[in-house]
Amino acid sequence: MTIITDRFNINTKGFTDIIDITSQITDLTKKHDIKNANAHIYVIGSTASITTLEYEPGLIKDLPEALEKIAPVNKEYHHDQTWQDGNGYAHIRSAMIGTSENIPIVDGALFLGTWQQIVLVDFDNKPRTRTILVQFLF
Ligand code: ZN
Repeated sequence: MTIITDRFNINTKGFTDIIDITSQITDLTKKHDIKNANAHIYVIGSTASITTLEYEPGLIKDLPEALEKIAPVNKEYHHDQTWQDGNGYAHIRSAMIGTSENIPIVDGALFLGTWQQIVLVDFDNKPRTRTILVQFLF
């Protein structure tokens, strides 16, 4: 098996900032001339996630609203008693959604639906620079 590893950085606003990173993944696929492989896309850190979403204005509001019911921003978390960093909700959201996705690459193209984009979601309570690691396995 061959593994090619690359990475790029994204600046976020935090607070469940949802950023479409599909074009960056497509660019890396072309840069390394990947034809058939598995792309493992991973965000370093425990207050962000990688997932897929239809990247349209409605869902950009709906996803944070749904997560607010499960892990509200203003709830008091045990984590905040440990570190006083106020981002307990961000760790819970990251753990639930996960920090990586595997997307097949078939004949040189990401095997995504028409309305399916790869997104970085930054939950932290401040702007961050996130490193996205991409490994192509074939
Ligand atoms: Zn924390």
